Amino acid sequence: MKYFIGNWKMFGIPKSIEILNKINSFYSKDKNRNKYKVIFTPPYTLIESYSKYFKKKKINIGSQNCYQKDQFSSNTAAISSYMLRSVGAKYTLVGHSDNRSEGDTDSILKNKVYFALKNNLKVVFCVGENKTHKKNKKTFSVLKKQLTKVLERKFNKNNIIIAYEPIWSIGTGKIPSSQELTRTSSFIKKTLKNIFRSKSPPVLYGGSVDGNSVKLFKKINEIDGFLIGGASKSTKKFIDIIRNYYR
Ligand code: PEP
Repeated sequence: MKYFIGNWKMFGIPKSIEILNKINSFYSKDKNRNKYKVIFTPPYTLIESYSKYFKKKKINIGSQNCYQKDQFSSNTAAISSYMLRSVGAKYTLVGHSDNRSEGDTDSILKNKVYFALKNNLKVVFCVGENKTHKKNKKTFSVLKKQLTKVLERKFNKNNIIIAYEPIWSIGTGKIPSSQELTRTSSFIKKTLKNIFRSKSPPVLYGGSVDGNSVKLFKKINEIDGFLIGGASKSTKKFIDIIRNYYR
């Protein structure tokens, strides 16, 4: 199974559902539809209405983040996985570089993953090195730390997906070479096999994926799908990615 996940970030109002509705129509008729899942993470404000609307349709709705505590707490503006699940979210991103840069540490992220799984959300756990790590050849050690400090063998790996997003590639138009990406995704899978002592969960790639760059990635067997930022805000751009991937 492959995954195409659209991360809207701070984008979207109720009527933006039209973008997803058209993608849902495309998916419903696509001859390749049994090979992949489509998931969107709109902002918190739209999760309940979009989840209801797509409940019996094809698109799955998730959250972009969740708070590191169970159920309810006294943290102003915080939203827990329990609350997200109660309004229909099925997935949550955890550890997006935007949130890591705003203070999410490994120990906070561990709690986020733990409580998300406890509350029956599937977790899309994001990892990735920055430009300096890459320049200093620290990519593998950074990735290993990000994975091993947060994920534990006792976590249900069937509800975990990893998104490898090199920070230098997010929103920049810069992408890793296919050789680089093959090596890095193999390393991530090897690390995950060690953590879970069994087959690796799916590993997605994220960073400047569009209808053009996806052509380079489709030959890389280790990659199980994509986390898509910018191009997920346009019906045409998102569909182009799926079309070109299976072309
Ligand atoms: C992202 O923010 O997760 C992302 C991959 O963004 P973009 O596709 O715009 O690089």
